[in-house]
Amino acid sequence: MSKVTRRRFVGSSLATSLVAPLGLSAVTQAARAESAIGDADIVVTGGRVLTMDWYVPVAEAIAVRGSHIVAVGSNADILNLAGSGTTRIDARGMTVTPGFIDAHSHPLFAEEAVGVNVNLPRIEDVKQALKGQAAKTPPGHWVRGVMYDDTIFEDERALTRKDIDEVVRDHPVYVGHRGGHTGVVNSRAFEVAGITIDTPDPVGGKFYRENGEFTGKVAEHAREPFFNAGTWPEMTRALRQEAVKIASRNMTASGLTSTTDAYGSYDDLVAYQDARAAGEMVFRLSFMPGGNSEVYKGLKIAGIRSGFGDDWLRIGAVKYAADGSASERTMSMSTPYAGKPDDYGILTMTQEQIDDAVDDAVAHGFRVGIHANGDVAIEMVLNAYERVLKMSSGANPRHRIEHCSLINGELLARIKAAGVVPAPFYTYAYYHGNKWVDYGPEKMQHMFAHRSFLDAGIPVAPASDYTPGPYEPLMAIQSMVTRKDQQGRVWGPNQRVSITEAMRICTVHGAYASFEEDTKGTLAPGKLADFVILEKDPHDVDPDSIVDIEVVRTVVGGNTVYEA
Ligand SMILES: [Zn+2]
Repeated sequence: MSKVTRRRFVGSSLATSLVAPLGLSAVTQAARAESAIGDADIVVTGGRVLTMDWYVPVAEAIAVRGSHIVAVGSNADILNLAGSGTTRIDARGMTVTPGFIDAHSHPLFAEEAVGVNVNLPRIEDVKQALKGQAAKTPPGHWVRGVMYDDTIFEDERALTRKDIDEVVRDHPVYVGHRGGHTGVVNSRAFEVAGITIDTPDPVGGKFYRENGEFTGKVAEHAREPFFNAGTWPEMTRALRQEAVKIASRNMTASGLTSTTDAYGSYDDLVAYQDARAAGEMVFRLSFMPGGNSEVYKGLKIAGIRSGFGDDWLRIGAVKYAADGSASERTMSMSTPYAGKPDDYGILTMTQEQIDDAVDDAVAHGFRVGIHANGDVAIEMVLNAYERVLKMSSGANPRHRIEHCSLINGELLARIKAAGVVPAPFYTYAYYHGNKWVDYGPEKMQHMFAHRSFLDAGIPVAPASDYTPGPYEPLMAIQSMVTRKDQQGRVWGPNQRVSITEAMRICTVHGAYASFEEDTKGTLAPGKLADFVILEKDPHDVDPDSIVDIEVVRTVVGGNTVYEA
């Protein structure tokens, strides 16, 4: 068996244009490669391997033993590591990248285990999906559609009560929007909830009406009469486990190998462990307990802190939320929304509450991740981080600002100085274009500011905020590179990043955000064997079609978990 030497790795390098990594030193990697003896379990050859590692940025092949990469190099180098028992994967000239990482998501929000996914291109498709779900649902019980999104329909109109009535009459139906604030119901739902056309809208809610009839759309507090009536599918422990299985299958099919639950509960933590024990959890997960949750209290009492766990399931930062939302246009800003001179958004925590939460978390060994979209909220979170950092010494704890949507030069400098990791939305420019009108082109130059963060030397993290935002990493790369929405409008073109930069954000920076850059984020000897084979190199296609590149295979820890 040939021994792979450092010299041969250098010889196999095809390009040297990537910037320095945040992870292991080249010497450490070479030393690990020296110990790579014995047959590989898997060799992948004939690929364009974009390692995201500055030492060997491009290679042809990789070798895996067990759950880790043992070598990266030329086809000849790697084939030397193959024996009779080695699985050989021919990449056929396709592109191999590290598995993508999502540093902020809510994998279990969709509740697909108790509803049918209606994120479909045509209203007719949604109707058929609901009809199928009704056929499986006991008479009279609620039928749920999840992940509804009116903005993607080829029909160019929203789903209505009448559409659903055409296929489901006897069951009440609730179709929840992926944004989490509205739904569409059928006529039977209104009957079950006891709502008639004479019922007034509740405070903070709306039953949408047109020509004296309900359209079926219901918003905010007007959803509650439906939630409180009839028989809903019960979210049992078994169903939660099933939800992890579904989410991990769907996410790995998009090329993600690691994600983050950015507000986890006790039930969620149990579900991840149940699914993992059953061999059904095929992604790696960073679990951020909700700051106000029982599970966070319990972890603190048990003496468990951020970093506890293993390569599959690890406790991350504790999560709080200090202001409103970007896509729902309630984030707290120093300047008003476009055309609404009195609307500056809303804060959900005071400075004192933020300070107390941060002090308490740090005292218990927790990193902190606080949701702050607007510049006002971001500044308050920075105040708290700077204060607690002054009282501590040692390594940078990498406190995080979730979303960190609207920034300015002063905030950037403070984020950099405090070593804070921002996690702005990575698919929003592309996906939520209709919402950016309310911010206007000027503000959009300072929102989801991936370019500004990189230029300031800040390791900006990749974040979907699924379900409100799509998690697909190829859509994220396109969104960050083009800043173009689905109608072709460009939002904040000054914030564009290069394709290589976008790919590094979705890999190297994702690992850094969870303190895991020594084990993942690049393809290098000693790293976890988490990688993706893409039909095409994103560098080679029209940037407006990166989202269409097919994920051919996803491998997590040496196991193929998805194949097209
Ligand atoms: Zn979130």
